[in-house]
Amino acid sequence: MTKHAARPAIRRRNRTLMVAAPLVALALWSWGIDAAQAAEPGKDAPAAGLPRILVLATGGTIAGQADARATGAYKSGQITGEQLMASVPGLDKLAKLNAEQISSIGSQDMNDKVWFALARRIQDAFDKNEADGILITHGTDTLEETAFFLDNVVRGDKPVVIVGSMRPATAVSADGPGNLYEAVQVAADPRSRGRGVMAVLNDKIQSARSITKTNTTSIETFSSPNDGPIGYVDTAGGIRFMTQAGGSKRATYQLPAGEQLPRVEIVYSHANMDAVPIEDAISHGAKGIVLAGVGDGNTSKQALDALEAAAKKGIIVVRSTRVRSGFVTRNVEVDDDKNGFVVSEDLNPQKARVLTQLLIAGGVTAPAELQKAFTATW
Ligand code: ASP
Repeated sequence: MTKHAARPAIRRRNRTLMVAAPLVALALWSWGIDAAQAAEPGKDAPAAGLPRILVLATGGTIAGQADARATGAYKSGQITGEQLMASVPGLDKLAKLNAEQISSIGSQDMNDKVWFALARRIQDAFDKNEADGILITHGTDTLEETAFFLDNVVRGDKPVVIVGSMRPATAVSADGPGNLYEAVQVAADPRSRGRGVMAVLNDKIQSARSITKTNTTSIETFSSPNDGPIGYVDTAGGIRFMTQAGGSKRATYQLPAGEQLPRVEIVYSHANMDAVPIEDAISHGAKGIVLAGVGDGNTSKQALDALEAAAKKGIIVVRSTRVRSGFVTRNVEVDDDKNGFVVSEDLNPQKARVLTQLLIAGGVTAPAELQKAFTATW
């Protein structure tokens, strides 16, 4: 794999956050906060010695706006990272914030290009000691995938925190401001070092590997089904970590050259499953197939036969599960050794896909080597 390439030519606004009065008034209205309660612009400027947090904004509901507060309809990614930071009172007392806009998209449109831009910017900021921590604002739909991707490619032990919200800025009770405040707290705290990429939403700190979205619309949507949150945060009591820093045995992978990961498809298993989705994936050039299997990563005889044939052609086959919790185990109902399959362990299909892409990009294609990488953190 190649070394990290130079930073991409994205338009960056790399300046200390300036709090403009009209912007604050507008943004505070957006959060449903009376402007009179806010700190006066220019007052309480960041004191020397505060941690430097680089905010990388990508869009999502946290930056979304609706025409009316009462409506459920809104557009993602309308507010910039800079506006977001300016709209939450007290952030400037927690950290010195620099905001840069990486993209302005709903995370259903998240893509390799944005992932590579994020990874390169974060690595650059760490390598040049430009920041003590990173905060990424992101939509919630694919937040877990971005977190996991970055967890696998960013080197260093400084905190990287990803945050989103389920309700847009204009909602009657927007969850964005609280989530942002707590996320900055975590990113600025030295105890957050050595914990990999973390997500902070709804008072919980969860690891990139474990977190998953479990509810379509509720603010209580993220959970870590196999091991629970690694910590809790609140505006009154601060941060409580439940695990030791540095406990994870995670490996990091080199970011491939260019801006694209190899094609890996997820095939969803169900009753009356046939081989068509697998054959389709192969005919569209998939280098790998992740099975979102039933139960312990199972699927029908027809689908299994097609997967076995795919593995014989050198296509990587990883068995994951559509079940929300538990581990996929080798050689139970499926003969993984004979078929040349890999099991995803605890990784859900969308994260197993990311790891498979990174491994293929790095030239790791032997099933035994792939399996080692999937099992490495246990
Ligand atoms: N579709 C939105 C997104 O992922 C949902 C959200 O942010 O909550 O960008």
